[in-house]
Amino acid sequence: MERDTIAAISTPIGEGAISIVRLSGPKAIAITNELFSKKDLEQVESHTIHYGKIIDPETGDIAEEVMVSVMRAPKTFTREDVVEINCHGGMVSVNRVLEIILSKNARLAEPGEFTKRAFLNGRIDLSQAEAVMDLIRAKTDKAMSVALKQMDGRLSGLIKRLRQELLETVAHVEVNIDYPEYDDVEEMSHQMMREKTQKVHDEIERLLQVAKQGKILREGLATAIIGRPNVGKSSLMNALVQENKAIVTEVAGTTRDIIEEYVNVRGVPLKLVDTAGIRETEDIVEKIGVERSRKVLKESDLILLVLNYNEELMEEDKKLFEAIQGLEYIVIVNKTDLPQKLDMDEVNHLAAGSPVITAALIKEAGIDELEAAIAQTFFAGEIDTGDVTYVSNVRHIQLLKQAKQALEDAMQGLEIAMPLDIVQIDVTRTWELLGEIIGDTASDSLIDQLFSQFCLGK
Ligand code: GDP
Ligand code: ZN
Repeated sequence: MERDTIAAISTPIGEGAISIVRLSGPKAIAITNELFSKKDLEQVESHTIHYGKIIDPETGDIAEEVMVSVMRAPKTFTREDVVEINCHGGMVSVNRVLEIILSKNARLAEPGEFTKRAFLNGRIDLSQAEAVMDLIRAKTDKAMSVALKQMDGRLSGLIKRLRQELLETVAHVEVNIDYPEYDDVEEMSHQMMREKTQKVHDEIERLLQVAKQGKILREGLATAIIGRPNVGKSSLMNALVQENKAIVTEVAGTTRDIIEEYVNVRGVPLKLVDTAGIRETEDIVEKIGVERSRKVLKESDLILLVLNYNEELMEEDKKLFEAIQGLEYIVIVNKTDLPQKLDMDEVNHLAAGSPVITAALIKEAGIDELEAAIAQTFFAGEIDTGDVTYVSNVRHIQLLKQAKQALEDAMQGLEIAMPLDIVQIDVTRTWELLGEIIGDTASDSLIDQLFSQFCLGK
């Protein structure tokens, strides 16, 4: 059965000067050619770009000046013929081009349908497909390389290896049960089963441990700057933004359209709360009370609490300390260029081990120390993305947690000397859960659900 040809705008609305209409499917080139003013696109070489105009077939008017990329199957993202029409006008003209395309033999792509085709055509596996989605959303270079590694199949490779180990264990038990008379089949003792499950369990646990760092790299550290009015919150925000170039990421291919701005502090991407948010938190404790403000603050990965060196500690400062207990925070004592009125012993006591940085933001003093503290807090020094396989996808993390739990059930069964054929139900379940990560045992509905989360046009 021949697939239909799909089309969509693959540029986020309002971003960038260039907007792209992407087509994929057997008629992608023919449809574009019908509307194209210049060369015969059916004759051009694959992976070439051509300047021309899109003509409205109804009126014969020029709809848009365009650059058309022609990419023939199978060396394309979807493994189908792909055409990308680069329109340099705004949304109006790109919509017009899409409208004309759709009046021909193409239909509007569903969200994630391009990536879904790449998956269904065997171009990528499920975890790679999800990595594409992560890539689209990746915000820093480091996050990008994590996503790229996953797309390379590193995670898939690791998962496959773990599944193989579990499968061998299960097979071994099966053989013992089915052919107890075979002497040369080594008896799968409880001890051996314990060793195998423990090993896989530990590897999953390690994956989950680095997942937290992966999440931070991918999404940026949600950072809230709090403190009483006038202590220097805005000054701190400005200092961090000025010192560290905002991150601008632009990737070729599927993600060229994504431009995000974040602040990169020594490899730690900070997603600084916008000014409106900061203002809101200024008297957040006053407004909504300690308990509820804690809830709000809890959504932050990092809190920067600013105090004034030139004033005594106030009731409001103490309330803020109270509100952030147990969370990840750094105290910045600002305005050290002015005479001391703040009791530093009291501050250090309240900080209870969290870093306390002294600063005079007006003189740009203390920023280096703060940055070092931020990097230290989150990566205990250097970040090494070298040979760590990050799991950065929420669904993967969920499945890994379930797999870990299933293995723990198996291990508990072994502990109380349950028969191995019962224990292996949990082992098989682990094998299935891991399979869902790479799409091996994923049901059709799961696949549909997954791809529908993608942005339209990807
Ligand atoms: P916010 O209300 O907490 O956002 O505080 P701002 O950043 O707006 O700063 C309040 C005032 O304190 C401004 O007039 C700043 O210029 C001043 N200020 C900020 N940092 C320092 C500092 O290190 N020393 C002194 N003397 N003044 C500062
Ligand atoms: Zn402010």
